Amino acid sequence: MAITELAELAEILKLTDEEKSWNPEGPDTLPLLISDDIKDLLDNPAIRRQFVPSAEENNDDEGNPDPQEEAKHSGTERLVHRYTNRAAFKTTDRCFAYCRHCFRRRFTGHLSGPASEAEIREAAEYIAKHREIREVLLTGGDFFTLSDSHIDMLLSIFRSTCPSVILRLCTRAVAVYPERFTENLMAIIRKHRDGAPMFLMTQFNHPAELTDKAIKAVAGFVDMGIPAFNQSVLLKGVNDDEDTLIELSDKLLMARIKPYYLFQGDPVKGTKHLRVDIERGLEIEKNLRRSLSGLGMPQYTADLPRGGGKVILTHSYLEGKTEKDGRIRYIFTTPEGETRSYPD
Ligand SMILES: *Cc1c(COP(=O)(O)O)cnc(C)c1O
Ligand code: SF4
Repeated sequence: MAITELAELAEILKLTDEEKSWNPEGPDTLPLLISDDIKDLLDNPAIRRQFVPSAEENNDDEGNPDPQEEAKHSGTERLVHRYTNRAAFKTTDRCFAYCRHCFRRRFTGHLSGPASEAEIREAAEYIAKHREIREVLLTGGDFFTLSDSHIDMLLSIFRSTCPSVILRLCTRAVAVYPERFTENLMAIIRKHRDGAPMFLMTQFNHPAELTDKAIKAVAGFVDMGIPAFNQSVLLKGVNDDEDTLIELSDKLLMARIKPYYLFQGDPVKGTKHLRVDIERGLEIEKNLRRSLSGLGMPQYTADLPRGGGKVILTHSYLEGKTEKDGRIRYIFTTPEGETRSYPD
C-alpha cells in the first residue's frame, strides 16, 4: 500500500520538523504519494529528497508553475506539439510516486485522470493528419498507471490510426513500481510491438533506484526489442556530484539502458531547493566527459522557458580560430587542458 498521508509518513519515518511543516495545501503544490518500493529506499537521503516533501517547496517565490508554457503549445487538450516532428501526449496525470522535482507539477496529480477513448482518438487523428510528426511520446504523469485494458486500447488506436509513428513509452514506474510490469502487461506490449519501433524512456536519477527488480522490469522491454534510454534530472543533494553520476551511468549501461539526457532542473515553482547552478552543472558535464565513454555520457540539457525548447549545455572546447596565408585553423583546448590547432 502506498503512502499518501504526511501523518502516516511521520510515523513510519522519523520526519524532521522541517519535513513535517510542508503545507500540502500550498499554492501549486504536488500531492504526496510514495510507492512501497520507494518506501524501502527512504533511508537513503538521495531517494528521500526526491519523494519526501519539504517546507522549502512552499517557500519558493521565484519559479513559474508552467515555465514551458505547455498549455499554450497544445495540439489537442493533452497533446503538446512543440517540435515539428514529434509530439508529447499526456496520457494521464497520475504517477505511482510523485517526484518533488516534477516539472509538470501544474498538471501532475491534479485529478484530470486518464485520457478518455475520445481524447485518445482525437490525439491519434491529429498526429495522423500532421504527417510531419514522426515520434510520439506517451507520457503523463506516467503512462503505465493506465490499466492494462486502457493501455491496450490506446496502443491499438495509435497503431491503427498512425501506424508509421515511433512510440516512446515514457515511465518512471520501472524505478518506483517495477511490479507493474506483469506478464499480462508485457504480453499487451508485445502484441503492439511490431511495426514502427517503440522505445522505453526511463527516469533513474540515482544508482540506488536501479534495484534488481527495476533492472528486470527494463530487461523485459529490451529483450523484446524495445531499446531503453534514460532521462535523469540533475538534483541538488541527490546526484549533483560526479561519482554518483558515473556510478549511475555504469549501472544504466550494465542494465542495457543508454543515458540519454541529464536535465537541468526547470525553474518550476516549488523546486528551487533541488536545482543546481548551471555553472556547477557545466563543470559536472566537463568532468563526466573525461570519465565516461560516449555510450555512457548523457547530454546535459535545459528546457528553455516560454516554449523555447531544449538546448544542449556543454563546455566548449573550441577557443577560436586563426588565419594564416588564407588557411583557417581552429584552436581547441583538449579535455586534459592542452592546446591543439585543427586545420579547416
Ligand atoms: C522533450 C520533448 C520532446 C522530445 O524531445 P527529444 O529531444 O527528441 O527527446 C518532444 N516534445 C516535447 C513537448 C518535449 O518536451
Ligand atoms: S514520474 Fe514524471 S510526471 Fe510523475 S511526478 Fe515524477 S517527474 Fe513528474
